[in-house]
Amino acid sequence: MHFKKNHFASAVMMKCRRLFGAALSAPRAVALTLRRRQLLLRMSMLFPRTIAARLYGLSVLTIGALITISIIAFLYVQQTEQVLTDSRDHDVALATSSADIEILIERHRRIIGSALGQRDATATSRIRRSSDELAKQITAVVAQSNDPQLVAITAQQDSLTSAGRKVVDLPAQATQAQISDAVEAYNTSADKLQNTVHDIRLNSLNAAQNNFADLLKRGQTLQLDILFAGLLALLVVAPLSALIIRSVVGRIKSVAEGMQQIAITNTPSKIASYDDNDEIGEMARALNVFRSTATVLLSNSHENKRLNAWLQIALNNMARGLSMFDSDGNLLVCNKRYLELYGLPEKCGQPGTPFNGICDHWCEQFDGEDRAAAKSWFAKLRKHISLGVPFTEAHTIADGRTILVNTQPLDGGGWVDLHEDITEKRAAEAQIAQLAHFDTLTGLANRHFFQETLDDALTGLDQVPPFALLWLDLDRFKAVNDTLGHPAGDELLRIVAERLRSCVRATDFIARLGGDEFAIIAPTAGDTSKAATIISDRILRKLSTPYDIAGKMVSVGVTIGIALAPDHGSTAEDLIHNADIALYRAKTHGRGQHSIFNHNMEAQITLRDTAEADLRRALTSNELLLHYQPILSLETGRVTVCEALMRWKHPTRGMVSPAEFIPLAEEVGLIGAMGDWALRQACRDAAQWPNGIKVSVNVAATQFTTSDVVVAVKSALQLSGLSANRLELEVTETVMLKDNAATLEALQELRGLGVNIALDDFGTGYASLSYLRSFPFDKIKIDQCFVKDIATRNDCFSIVQAIVSLASSLGMASVAEGIETVENLQKVIAAGCDEAQGYYFSRPVAAADLAAAFNAAEQLQAQAA
Ligand code: C2E
Ligand code: MG
Ligand code: MG
Repeated sequence: MHFKKNHFASAVMMKCRRLFGAALSAPRAVALTLRRRQLLLRMSMLFPRTIAARLYGLSVLTIGALITISIIAFLYVQQTEQVLTDSRDHDVALATSSADIEILIERHRRIIGSALGQRDATATSRIRRSSDELAKQITAVVAQSNDPQLVAITAQQDSLTSAGRKVVDLPAQATQAQISDAVEAYNTSADKLQNTVHDIRLNSLNAAQNNFADLLKRGQTLQLDILFAGLLALLVVAPLSALIIRSVVGRIKSVAEGMQQIAITNTPSKIASYDDNDEIGEMARALNVFRSTATVLLSNSHENKRLNAWLQIALNNMARGLSMFDSDGNLLVCNKRYLELYGLPEKCGQPGTPFNGICDHWCEQFDGEDRAAAKSWFAKLRKHISLGVPFTEAHTIADGRTILVNTQPLDGGGWVDLHEDITEKRAAEAQIAQLAHFDTLTGLANRHFFQETLDDALTGLDQVPPFALLWLDLDRFKAVNDTLGHPAGDELLRIVAERLRSCVRATDFIARLGGDEFAIIAPTAGDTSKAATIISDRILRKLSTPYDIAGKMVSVGVTIGIALAPDHGSTAEDLIHNADIALYRAKTHGRGQHSIFNHNMEAQITLRDTAEADLRRALTSNELLLHYQPILSLETGRVTVCEALMRWKHPTRGMVSPAEFIPLAEEVGLIGAMGDWALRQACRDAAQWPNGIKVSVNVAATQFTTSDVVVAVKSALQLSGLSANRLELEVTETVMLKDNAATLEALQELRGLGVNIALDDFGTGYASLSYLRSFPFDKIKIDQCFVKDIATRNDCFSIVQAIVSLASSLGMASVAEGIETVENLQKVIAAGCDEAQGYYFSRPVAAADLAAAFNAAEQLQAQAA
């Protein structure tokens, strides 16, 4: 047994070694291969991509192994059967037949032997029959077996039969020798046959034994084959199964872990096997989608919670009351404000509270008529709700508050209400409406209201009587504002408004359009023009009466432009435009009067527009030039300054006076550019003059507000190289009316540069002495209107003398303008003026003619002295 086991084990090992060779001798490589199963799985054809295919493959391999083992076993059983059948049919049958023959031979021996003792005929015949019978039986056994060995003994059997017969047929008298010979011959035949049959039996038994031994050997071989097939299947199928199981189970586990993490809302960063191409990969990708969806759902859920919290906060912090009811009229939700607005207790805010119950609760707060009113309001509300259409309505409740209710039906029944206390809003709206339509200062209608009224009046022009539109502009209001301050200006405007009201009928419409501008819409039944004139005269008269403003008497005037509807326009725009033209016309004709629009005025305005275009062209086409007029020192008789005076050499109109185009330039905003040009040109020219002679440049008041005079002066001085102390700037009193602080600052800066500042045309305009106090001018130029008649009128002389004395006491020089005669000059000298300027010395001349003009002027001065 022991030997058998060892033999079996070594045989197995031998077989395995032979067949698996390198595989069994290299377990490390196998282990490595196992570790790299992922790579192998992808690379090897044995490992299809899908797990199903792998499992199917594994099953096929297993089934294949089982079929192989079954076939081997089946073949073995068949072989065994064959061997056993062969043994049974041949060896065992031969052995049996041989044994039978041997037994028959033994019996034949005994019968033959008995024939020797009984030699009577009866016994001999009986023995012969029995001998023949036995011979037949032997022949039959031989014939049955068909075995060639037995067939081969037939001859021996015949000789045995014949030898037996000889023994039997021995005559009774046969000698003992004859008998012995016959018996010996018989025995020899019998022994020979018996030996042959015995050999055959032994041989067949040996053959059967050999067959069984061979069968046993085959059985062992079969065991080995089955074991080998099993081992082979184990070696192939088991690693494959292990690989597949490991590759599948491990990854499924990872995916499962990912799923668990997702389940506990701890979303993994990356799901295992996501990039794999098999079912687990698909599972992982599906899980990834699920994770994303779960993440979104989770965040949505958090978001929803947060939103809910915010919603609650928002609801309770809403300025409006909110309530929402279901289709049965039961409360779904309401906020605090809703309860506060209606003074309802907390319990009314419980979800499920019926709307009617809330209404009843609210109505119970009131008594008598108030309760009836509250009930009727809620009845109205209920009616609207039952109609299922949105509605908005304001309701003023008994305590005086106005609540605006906005109801919106909800899809599927129910409704939502918004309740807003608009009491203050309503009051504010009323106030805003007042502000939107009326001027807060005067209480008159404002521009907006005026526009609306004018539009309305024109819309119904065929039904309502025609009307006059009066456009009013106060004269000298700005001076009051600037000199007495804004409160005084405001007070003046209030009084003006009062006076205007007293000038018109209650049906007339007065508006303050802004600043000192007013408008009146005066409907008239008869002659509109005449009526407008009467109203205008009344206004002119009343408004020009002095005003007592905080104890000071102030005078302002008014200029009125009038347009008549519908003659002068059927639209508000046309009518206003024409009234404005009429006003402009009245202003240019000397203010303090009214002017009714006519179509000629438009042509004049067009002329002005043309002039403006001309002037713009003049600036760019070098049509402007400067003339210079010398100013002499009355002390030295020498020219000290030359005043630069602008000229416009118009291509068709010839030389145009600055008195005409400077105001236009100021009006259309060209004065800044023109003034800058004059400064640059004057400085450039003066730089060529003898050192002692300065140049004096006129600067318009508007230049200080529309452009930077300081920058222009600096630039002109720099470009020309003229020193600042050779430049004088002439400003008029109107400069001081503009933005006072900024203008003063600019003047100070200019003085700081070394530039002299002269006050031009002193004595005209507002002639306010406060200007002299507010800025230390270097020079005062006495207006020529005083100088013109100085020789003939004592008052003019006195005024000039007073101005000279004033200037002297303030440390300022005085200059007399417009000296045309030697008498004027002498009077001016007598009045003590420091300098003089006028046609007597020289008219303004081109720069090229200045040298001659200097000489002539100085000679004339010498003569006069
Ligand atoms: P203004 O500054 O008072 O200049 C003096 C004006 O009196 C000049 O008139 C001059 O020609 C004139 N004039 C001088 N002597 C006599 C005289 O003896 N008799 C008479 N009747 N007139 C005399 P012009 O040149 O026509 O200038 C008029 C005004 O135009 C100037 O008055 C000044 O205010 C303004 N103006 C002239 N040039 C400029 C300028 O470049 N810029 C600015 N902003 N204004 C200028
Ligand atoms: Mg001047
Ligand atoms: Mg002047």
